[in-house]
Amino acid sequence: MEYFPITVRLQDQQCIIVGGGEIAHRKLKSLLKAKAKVSLIALHFSPDVRALVEQYQLPLYQQAFNETLTEQLLDEAYLVIAATDNRELNQQVSVAARKRKVWVNVVDDLDLSTFIMPAIIDRSPLLVAISTGGVSPVLARKIREKIEWLLPTNLGQLLTRLKAYRPRIKKKFPNLKSKRDFSEWYIEQAIADPTVFKSGFDENLKTYKAINAGNQKGKVYLVGAGPGDAELLTVKALKVLQTADVVLHDALVSEQILEQVRRDATLVHVGKRAQYHSVTQDETNRLLVQYAKQGLLVVRLKGGDPFIFGRGGEELEVLVNAGIDYEVVPGITAASGCASYAGIPLTHRDYAQTVMFITAHCANSIDKLNWQSLAREKQTVAIYMGLLRNETLVSNLMEHGRDGATPIAIIENGTLPEQRVVRGTLQQLPILVEQHQIVSPALIVIGEVTVLADRLGWYQHSTLLGSQTEVNQNGEALVLRKVS
Ligand code: SAH
Repeated sequence: MEYFPITVRLQDQQCIIVGGGEIAHRKLKSLLKAKAKVSLIALHFSPDVRALVEQYQLPLYQQAFNETLTEQLLDEAYLVIAATDNRELNQQVSVAARKRKVWVNVVDDLDLSTFIMPAIIDRSPLLVAISTGGVSPVLARKIREKIEWLLPTNLGQLLTRLKAYRPRIKKKFPNLKSKRDFSEWYIEQAIADPTVFKSGFDENLKTYKAINAGNQKGKVYLVGAGPGDAELLTVKALKVLQTADVVLHDALVSEQILEQVRRDATLVHVGKRAQYHSVTQDETNRLLVQYAKQGLLVVRLKGGDPFIFGRGGEELEVLVNAGIDYEVVPGITAASGCASYAGIPLTHRDYAQTVMFITAHCANSIDKLNWQSLAREKQTVAIYMGLLRNETLVSNLMEHGRDGATPIAIIENGTLPEQRVVRGTLQQLPILVEQHQIVSPALIVIGEVTVLADRLGWYQHSTLLGSQTEVNQNGEALVLRKVS
């Protein structure tokens, strides 16, 4: 380990910044955040620096750095930052500081520095620092972005609460184990459900005691996982996944997303296309109730949005009947996610004023559709589970007046690295499905807006097929060319 990580209390400590430009300004801002007493030495100061100097009434030495002239200042310094663009000058600063055993950081110069500053996530009092030993600040920033995404947003608030409660926790839980158990419970609660903060310590304590006395109430979170890309999870969904005791998930939920689930949670696959055996809806309902009654935090994780062709309503009815608490966390539905990643705006002032989401899962659901309204012009129709019945779809739409030449798109594995977008016309749909061996999950989009995918498609992994399809007199596709 080349660098030893510590966090230093800088409040009221004398710090010196040599330099007065943009970098000096950035460093000055960080030091002021840590409440340091900062003095600045430079020939020129930018307006930004001057503004802060004025605001905080900081001492300013408008002169070239000179060790003898600033001897006393250096002797009293706690740390020094050299932020000039003159290496020779930076070197003089570094030597002067090191001679006095004062910590020194020279911007962009590891050799002249005795300490370096990490990339940070500041949710004070929580601080996450990432250091690459000065090798790659860019990588440090990337890692910071990744970590930032994982951290619940209310950690700062949580720590402030914990600090305030410390004396009371100590008093109520004199032994170490009970103190730790309570703290662990409180932290988990606060991360899962920030409404904990609405009640005070005494109320929190009461809830905790009730749970410990065996009266713990379980809860079910009905969560939408979005269409596949894990980054399309909502912040709330991620938070719930990271605190769950049990997660019951469908086949449609991607591996990437299941990786976000708390490590020691139980994962139950209740998908209709499960490899082992298919779990019936009744069985899923029964499991939900059973786990919640054990006092567990249960997540029912569904692809897309739970309230769009997801039977979310039916599952909630069961929970209501069993008297179980629940919350619904919406997700990005397939039509929204797939259309975005394919570059298809579902509505467009010129092409479509309406969008309809339909499912064509079985004969029963197809029979119930109002074909008259589905076949209307200037309308986008997004079809879920439409692969198997695609021929019926085409014939019904055309019989009710939708032009066979209406552009369509089939989006397979939307938002995932395997995404494929196949373009063609309504009457070609069955041929396209067969020729490209489209597999589930796939979304069919019908309407003029789908043409825009050829120009607006942006998802770098995506393959666009068939947009230059040639059609023979019978409207059948002749050549399907990959265009990107
Ligand atoms: N509740 C889900 C839909 C479940 S129905 C939602 O809101 O998205 C399952 C159907 O959704 C699939 O048959 C397919 O038509 C569509 N679908 C889901 N994920 C998809 C994806 N990544 N790419 C394409 N279609 C998808």
